[in-house]
Amino acid sequence: MDCLFCKIVAGEVPSNKLYEDDDLLAFYDIDPQAPVHFLVIPKAHIPSPAQIDAQNCEVVGKAFCLIAKLAQELHLENGYRVVTNCGADGGQTVGHLHFHVLAKRNLAWPPG
Ligand code: 5GP
Ligand code: ZN
Repeated sequence: MDCLFCKIVAGEVPSNKLYEDDDLLAFYDIDPQAPVHFLVIPKAHIPSPAQIDAQNCEVVGKAFCLIAKLAQELHLENGYRVVTNCGADGGQTVGHLHFHVLAKRNLAWPPG
């Protein structure tokens, strides 16, 4: 399948990994938008948040458990933002579900 993040999961495209288990991979974003910016992805190919359903949603809870654990390990006590872009209007550019974690700067709200 021609999916960049599936290729990162397969090790065909290199990445700066933070964490890996059977279900999830966390790696630093290649174009960071904050001093800390990493992505958490399911290893299974789910194209976007719009394709989360009763069959595949368990990994979403696991992703948020992992985000809490990594935030603790990276000392993000001051807070962080979890972002999931969906589709063209949502600003999604890679068609494999991913959760951005941004931290170590003051993040504006509402986003632009
Ligand atoms: P989206 O725009 O789909 O929400 O987020 C995709 C993210 O993937 C972007 O923040 C972009 O910088 C990141 N990205 C794109 N290509 C690569 C890559 O080859 N390696 C890594 N580590 N991140 C990438
Ligand atoms: Zn994929």
